[in-house]
Amino acid sequence: MVLKKGQRYRCQNRDCAAEIEVTKDSVEGDLGLSCCCGSEMKKPYSPPVFTNRDADREILAPLFRTKA
Ligand SMILES: [Zn+2]
Repeated sequence: MVLKKGQRYRCQNRDCAAEIEVTKDSVEGDLGLSCCCGSEMKKPYSPPVFTNRDADREILAPLFRTKA
């Protein structure tokens, strides 16, 4: 699994439900992502891939407005 900046992963354990955001691209890796509770972490949403990064950012922008 390669982590890309901006991707979010959510813990699959409902009692934990931790969520992380990637702030830096990873190098290549084969292992999946595990939460500190031991459960697997998965992307809650896979954004469509665009070649134009600016358009991509515009579409993703609403996703990064967190409910504080
Ligand atoms: Zn967890």
